Amino acid sequence: MPIDPTLPYDDDNIFAKILRGEIPSTRIYEDEWAYAFPDINPQAKLHILVIPKGKYVSWDDFSARASVEEIAGFVRAVGHIAREHGLVEPGYRLLANVGAHGGQEVPHLHVHLFGGQPLGRMIA
Ligand code: AMP
Repeated sequence: MPIDPTLPYDDDNIFAKILRGEIPSTRIYEDEWAYAFPDINPQAKLHILVIPKGKYVSWDDFSARASVEEIAGFVRAVGHIAREHGLVEPGYRLLANVGAHGGQEVPHLHVHLFGGQPLGRMIA
């Protein structure tokens, strides 16, 4: 069920619980700004979710309210994870779904990082 990205941040969303360690996840990367873990339902050979540590509902919320430090830290973390996984030369895809048309289901900003195979058309 897609979420309404204009609603206030919900502290009980599943990724908030993952950040607090209340729901288990396998840590792929973590720093001051970001946490990364495998998607539970992978759509490619490599499918990583990268989330900011801060409380942001969506890309819209993050781009409007996050500090310059948070934005820089998060973007650098995503790039670092891709490099660490050897994805730059073969290539990879980033995706951030927003709201109903985007098909966003979890109301905490997450960037999907897909790689490890040719990814086909951008939109099916
Ligand atoms: P989106 O549709 O962009 O909101 O994507 C939500 C993603 O979260 C989906 O790809 C789910 O497979 C993934 N997901 C949901 N719950 C978990 C979980 N507990 N651990 C890892 N990934 C999850």
